Amino acid sequence: MSNITDLSKSRYCKGIQCPKMLWLDAYKPQEAEDILPESVLENGTLVGDLARSYFGGYSLVGFSFNKSEMVNKTNEIMQTGAENIAEAAFEHDGLYCAVDILHRNGDGWDIVEVKSSTEIQPIYIEDMAFQYYLLTLCGLDIKNVYNMHLNNSYVRHGELELQKLFALEDCTEKVREKFNEVESNISAIRSYVSVPYEPPRDIDTYCVKPYKCAYRKYCGRHLPEHSIFDLAGIQARTAYKRYHSGIISYEDVLANAKELKLSDKHSRQIEFTLNDLPDEVNAEKIRAFLGTLTYPVYHLDFETYQQPVPQFDDVSPFQQIPFQYSLHIEQQDGSLEHKEFLGKEGTDPRRALAEQLVRDIPTGACSLAFNMSFERTVIKNLAELFPDLSEQLLDIRENMHDLMIPFKDQDYYSKAMQGSYSIKYVLPALYPNDPELDYHNLDGVHNGSEASAAFAEMPSHTPEEIAEIRKNLLKYCGLDTYAMVKVLR
Ligand code: SF4
Repeated sequence: MSNITDLSKSRYCKGIQCPKMLWLDAYKPQEAEDILPESVLENGTLVGDLARSYFGGYSLVGFSFNKSEMVNKTNEIMQTGAENIAEAAFEHDGLYCAVDILHRNGDGWDIVEVKSSTEIQPIYIEDMAFQYYLLTLCGLDIKNVYNMHLNNSYVRHGELELQKLFALEDCTEKVREKFNEVESNISAIRSYVSVPYEPPRDIDTYCVKPYKCAYRKYCGRHLPEHSIFDLAGIQARTAYKRYHSGIISYEDVLANAKELKLSDKHSRQIEFTLNDLPDEVNAEKIRAFLGTLTYPVYHLDFETYQQPVPQFDDVSPFQQIPFQYSLHIEQQDGSLEHKEFLGKEGTDPRRALAEQLVRDIPTGACSLAFNMSFERTVIKNLAELFPDLSEQLLDIRENMHDLMIPFKDQDYYSKAMQGSYSIKYVLPALYPNDPELDYHNLDGVHNGSEASAAFAEMPSHTPEEIAEIRKNLLKYCGLDTYAMVKVLR
C-alpha cells in the first residue's frame, strides 16, 4: 500500500481488530516483536493452490507488485468468459483485494474465500464483507459469498478428493448485513491512522484475539514487572477484565484476593515471587511417586507434526502424525542407554515408528513421559491404525507414568517455575544456568513447533541440508528425554 489510508483486505482486518496496529505499522514498526502472525499460518499456499481446482479449470491472475496490472489482467480475463478466476484483483478509491476464487454464477459472480482452517472464525466474515463491499463498488453483481475451509472429518484414501477435502459454507447473508458497517469501519480506520501523534488505545482482549498482536510488549510497557497477566494459566478475558477494574499488580491481586476468589495456586505463585521464598519440597509425596516406578525406566518423548492437506493415506487434515521419538533407558544404578527414531522425510513415518517402538520397549516395562496424555494419545492412535501391533502398543500405554505429576501437584515448588509445571519451566528451576540443559544452545531446533516445521519442510531441502536438519532434530528430541532423566534425578 502506498498511502497510509489505503486498505487491502488484510489491512482492513487488522484495523478491525485494532486500528492502532496500522498506526504503529506506519509510525513505529521497529516496536513490533518478531512473531509469525497466525493469519499467515492460516493462509497455507498449498491449500490455496488446491482449492482453485474445486470448481474445475481456472484462470490465474499472476502476482505483481503493481496492483493496477493485476486489476487490468482480471478485467481482461473476465471478458474472456472464464468461469473461475483465481486471485481476481479489484481496486477502488484506495481499497484493494484479491479474491481467492471468483466463480461465475449466471450473469453475476460468487466470491469464494479459502482458509486453511477447519472452521469459520468471526474475522473471516469481516474479511469477506470487505471483499463483497469492494466488488459491489466495482460494479459486480455478487450472488453469493462462500467460505471454503478444510473438512477435518475427511480421511484420505488414495487420490485426494477435493469435494470431500474442502467444505463450502454459505456466508452470503451474514456478509450482506455488514455492507453499511464496512463503509463506516473504513472511514473510522482511515481517520484513526491519519493522526500524526500516537492515539490513545489501552490494551484489551483484541491484543490476543483473533490474532496475537506484535505490539503487545510495546503497548503493555506501563505494566509492572509482575502483573495479573503473569498468573499461570489465567484466561485472557479474565485477566483483561481484572486489569480494567484496576487490579494490575500482584499486590493489587492480593489486596482483592477474597473478592477474586484467588486460587491456592495463584496465591502461592504471588507469595513466592513477592517474598522471594526458597524452593519447597514435599519429600513424602515425591517418595510415594518414585515408589510407583520400576527400573529400568524408559523415558519417552514423541515429536509430531500436522498436514493441513493429508499427504498420506489414513490421515485427516491437521491430524497429529508422530515422526520421531527419543528413548533414554535408565537402570537403577543410573546408567543410561539411548535409542531413537526419526522418520524418513516425505514418507509416512508411522508404521516404522510403531514397529521400532514395540522393539525398543519390552512388554511390562515402566515407561515415563512428561505430560503423558500426549504420548498416550499418540500410542492409542497408532494402536488403532495397526491392529497387529496394538497389544504391544497398548501395553506401553498402560504402563506409562507421568513425571509431570509431582510438579502439577506442587510437591516440588520453585518461584522460578512461575506457577507453571511445563518441563520448559521445571528444568531451568531445577538446573539453573546449566548449558547442557539449555535449549537455547541447540542448533536450528529449539522447541516442538520448530521440530514440526523442520520435519514438514525437509523434502524441499538439499541432501546436505537434510542431513543437518536430521542432526538437529535428533539432538533436540534427545535433550527432551535427557531432561526427563535429570528431572527424575
Ligand atoms: S497491542 Fe493491543 S492496543 Fe497495541 S496495537 Fe496491538 S492490539 Fe492494539
